[in-house]
Amino acid sequence: MINIFQPSLGHEEIRALNKLFETNWVGKGKKTDEFIQAFSDKIGSESDHMLTLNSCSEGIFQVLEFMQFKIDDEIIIPSISFVASANATIDCGLVPIFCDVDKRTLNARASDIEKCITNRTKAVLLLNYGGYPVEYSEINLLLKKYDLKLIIDNACSPFSTYNGMNTGLWGDFGIWSFDAMKILVTGDGGMVYAKNTEHKRAIEMRSYLGQTTPSGYASKGSKIWWEFDIDHHGRRSITNDIASTIGLVQLKKIDTFLIKRKRVHEFYNNELAQFEEFELPSPVPANCETSYYFYWIRLPSQKHRDSLAKYLKKNDVYTTFRYYPLHLIKYYKNVRKLKNSEDAVKRVLCLPIHQALSKSDLAKIVDLIYSWKRNI
Ligand SMILES: *Cc1c(COP(=O)(O)O)cnc(C)c1O
Repeated sequence: MINIFQPSLGHEEIRALNKLFETNWVGKGKKTDEFIQAFSDKIGSESDHMLTLNSCSEGIFQVLEFMQFKIDDEIIIPSISFVASANATIDCGLVPIFCDVDKRTLNARASDIEKCITNRTKAVLLLNYGGYPVEYSEINLLLKKYDLKLIIDNACSPFSTYNGMNTGLWGDFGIWSFDAMKILVTGDGGMVYAKNTEHKRAIEMRSYLGQTTPSGYASKGSKIWWEFDIDHHGRRSITNDIASTIGLVQLKKIDTFLIKRKRVHEFYNNELAQFEEFELPSPVPANCETSYYFYWIRLPSQKHRDSLAKYLKKNDVYTTFRYYPLHLIKYYKNVRKLKNSEDAVKRVLCLPIHQALSKSDLAKIVDLIYSWKRNI
């Protein structure tokens, strides 16, 4: 089966883990500090704004909980979002309000967001679909006008930029994912950026049961090292040095990963251009860079999309649609109709894109699309 996503992990990661195991310390420690520093350098942030967590989903929960909005306050979320966003919102007693997306990019625009603003709206929780940056300039004007907070789920766009700055750094909080299906993979893991360093420190404490004092190992100065205090209750959401060690090696490879993904993207663009009835991804504007996380096409009808997906699957090529619109999930009790999101779920298909796709894999995928086309 040709996977749609796949990590690139190998000997370098294993060698680094061997070294780590020899130290007899695999918990959160020095390697995690190093990873935070190296990651901050890579994305153009400062390490005192950044913390690691065990996942991006947990980051969204932690951030929303920390913000302490009032019960029934509203958070605007693009309907085409990962399910963690709506779940975290509800878990905090807040109401997710789903907005529509731009047909061309599947990103929420300022105009989509504005339609959903009420006097209960407190924040907007956005993602950069497939790596393609949202229009931050327009969106920030809107946020200012209505005095709203911005939380960015940056899982799709870890290294994307808008006007030269990483897409995760444009709001009050940004959250990255390093899970098994992402570009930089540590098994599981997440990173949070907080614009305010005090917010960063508060979330850091809450991510280790609210403890204000470090463990005995780290607090060498204290006489009675088993005493501790907490300043707010919290969960245990920290990562460990196993994940961070893998992350450090992955960071060294990340530029080649991004180049390979770009090549896959361009290969599909060239090969599929001859199918006039396929809509190909919009090119990113000159002031932006993408992370090439998804490659997606839009087919003429749901019948075509479903038929192509099934044909590819039957021939060992896995494709999918991300993300099933949240406003269609009954549990969330949405009342809106969102035209572009509903069109996307019917006609969009995400094709395989990852660093390990070979020329023959790509040729196979495109050949299958040709033969499917001949037979419909
Ligand atoms: C993968 C993903 C997440 C979840 O990340 P985890 O680290 O698995 O919790 C959140 N949002 C988006 C857009 C994602 O693609």
